[in-house]
Amino acid sequence: MESTWDLSVFYKGFNDPALRADIEKLHTLIREGHELLTAELPKTEKLEAIIDRLETLNDMFSKTYMFCQLTLSTDSENREAFRTLEELSALGVDAQVFQSACTRCIGGVSDLEAEISKSVKLTTNAFILREAKREAAHMLPESMEKWMLRMSLSGGDSFQKLHDQLMGTITVDLNGESLPLPAIRGMAFDPDSNVRKSAYEAELSAYPKVALPMAFCLGGIKGEALTMCEAKGYPDVLTQQLAESRMDSETLTAMWAAIREYLPDFRRYLRVKAKLLGHADGLPFYDLFAPVGSDVKTYTVEEARQLLKDTFGKAHPKMADFMMHAFDNRWIDLYPRKGKEGGAFCSENHELKISRILTNFVGSFADVSTLAHELGHAWHAHCMENLPVLLAQPPMPLAETASTFNETLLSHTVIQTVEPDRAFGILEGVLMEATQCVVDIYSRFLFENAVFEARKTHTPAVEELREMMLSAQEEAYGDGLAKDVRHPDMWINKSHYYTVGLHYYNFPYAFGLLFGLGVYQKYTAEGAAFLPKYDALLARCGSDSVYNVARSVDIDVHDVAYWRSALNVLRGEIDEFEALAKGKVQL
Ligand SMILES: [Zn+2]
Repeated sequence: MESTWDLSVFYKGFNDPALRADIEKLHTLIREGHELLTAELPKTEKLEAIIDRLETLNDMFSKTYMFCQLTLSTDSENREAFRTLEELSALGVDAQVFQSACTRCIGGVSDLEAEISKSVKLTTNAFILREAKREAAHMLPESMEKWMLRMSLSGGDSFQKLHDQLMGTITVDLNGESLPLPAIRGMAFDPDSNVRKSAYEAELSAYPKVALPMAFCLGGIKGEALTMCEAKGYPDVLTQQLAESRMDSETLTAMWAAIREYLPDFRRYLRVKAKLLGHADGLPFYDLFAPVGSDVKTYTVEEARQLLKDTFGKAHPKMADFMMHAFDNRWIDLYPRKGKEGGAFCSENHELKISRILTNFVGSFADVSTLAHELGHAWHAHCMENLPVLLAQPPMPLAETASTFNETLLSHTVIQTVEPDRAFGILEGVLMEATQCVVDIYSRFLFENAVFEARKTHTPAVEELREMMLSAQEEAYGDGLAKDVRHPDMWINKSHYYTVGLHYYNFPYAFGLLFGLGVYQKYTAEGAAFLPKYDALLARCGSDSVYNVARSVDIDVHDVAYWRSALNVLRGEIDEFEALAKGKVQL
């Protein structure tokens, strides 16, 4: 089996004339697109032409962009890829301006429903047209748009860049050595408790030197968000973000209500983990990611492939075949190597009907689980591949449905077949991640609320931000964390707070996990009969509201009871974890 991916399906290289030709074509498409918007055309014809143009732009951007990004992700020093990507980013701004112009044009069609009913193409894309109409009511005034976006380049955008630069260059002193921050943060997973503790202490002592500029970055970005939100006519940033996620506030309220009810269970898990690691009263922050149990088994890639084939072959044979196709056709870049980025992702190309997956496989169970996760994303794209491209882009809350489903299916299956000691280690890994997705995410949501509230009147100072962070952690983690060993500077570290134009990038994670679990529960209740419904649900994710997509499999996300049922899966795992821990330590 080849261990690197094949990118020749995109272009033969950076000197492939087809690449240059496609970039030139993008310029032309955008320029002619503007002419199209001002041309005298019958309304139906114009709307059809807009959809056509947006589809072509989408395909061409995706193909050229993916080629550059994927190349860079395994070869960070590739100058040609970097230069071409910069060129495409600049073109991306032009494309955005064109897209805004299209949205305005669609918003100006007063009898949109009548137009939709006149054409097959428009009926097919009705959801996108209605979305554009809704969005058009919340656009920056046209005469100001260009200037506001340009001001943002020297405002929020600059603050974001400053944050990234500072985080990318900050070094942390540990035992006389100067190390980059990600290396220090990675030590939180070290089996040696002394390493974890001293890395945490070193990390905290590095923040004061950047705290002041970071507070200004955060204040600048959140201040700009409040201004943009007002200019777009939304009552607050959360409402805006929910609208852009196709989710309503009833759903969010119901989800948080259930999560608050289950916080004591997560705290119970954290306190058991603390005892296992020798702490009497709650888990110190530096041990949140500590490995426990003895999950020492390692897998070769061939064994991982076989495990996925067996597990999914029984559960969802079509998906298992698809996974094997991905392995056998060089869709995956498997191993870490110099110049390759860390972590894992899946990148999908709708036009070519392919995905590419990056992993840093070293052989742990978590690595096998990552493969299942990323292949879930690829399967999701596969389920949407025959839809028009504009209907194949799920909003953030729904984007993790298939990946969560796969991870859950894999861990639940494997835990049942291995000896208790390994099951314990795997279970702990699952709960560690779930606690991040539920409890930590809840703390981030509370923190972001507090920052926006404060920013309405002033730029919050460093000490104020630290207090907000500690109080958010107290409300979410409670006595699950040791009282005096928390992380007042998490707001400096998490880049999600600093993304211009994307706020509250936290609730989609909790939603994603709990929705994926709910869907998994449906599968366990209905068995194979659920599979066609499952695939249809995935196909629908880009062409309906979050509420309606969930409704299609009889899940009512407005109902707190639904969220309780998803959280019950985790409560069951916490019970199991506690029972297994009783054999190891006095609880
Ligand atoms: Zn994912």
